[in-house]
Amino acid sequence: MTRALFIIDVQNDFTEGGALGVDGGAAVAAGITRHLEAHRDDYALVVASRDWHSGENDNGGHFATEADPDFVDTWPAHCVEGTPGAEYHPALAADVIDVHIRKGQGVPAYSIFEGTDDAGATIGEVLTAHGVTEVDVVGIATDYCVRASALDALEHGQHVRVLTGLVAGVAPESSAAALAELGHAGVELVDATDADRA
Ligand SMILES: [Zn+2]
Repeated sequence: MTRALFIIDVQNDFTEGGALGVDGGAAVAAGITRHLEAHRDDYALVVASRDWHSGENDNGGHFATEADPDFVDTWPAHCVEGTPGAEYHPALAADVIDVHIRKGQGVPAYSIFEGTDDAGATIGEVLTAHGVTEVDVVGIATDYCVRASALDALEHGQHVRVLTGLVAGVAPESSAAALAELGHAGVELVDATDADRA
């Protein structure tokens, strides 16, 4: 068994005080760091994604420009490359990240599988190269990028767990619906304390 950890979009703009901050985001950043302090050796690979948008355009309609954002398909400007909002939250231990994925350059991109690493490889290629068969998913937001990344990991043939104590969502209803959908799709939902015992 070769397991990777996906840390999805734990960035300043998605945490409290950011352009699109979700409640509990900063606590998720700190919780992931504690999880890694206890469990770094469980993971052959620690991968983190960042939403990484252009500041020059609306990123394929992803940024609301003509009307107010609907918070489903259009959003306030966020995670513009090179700005503090696009950086990892300071409570996240970024020094233990092996692979950095950037996604959303000029386009909407919710799943980590839509991005590439510094060398231009997709995460699917990276997982295959390392023989990864199991993926744990944590991060932000439960109802968008965590959901999309977990579904794509299943599609890639991974055994997928979402650590439900280490995710935060945009809205409670859509986050609960996303977790239910993931469970039905075959994702194992475990709370962080279960993961600690595993
Ligand atoms: Zn975005």
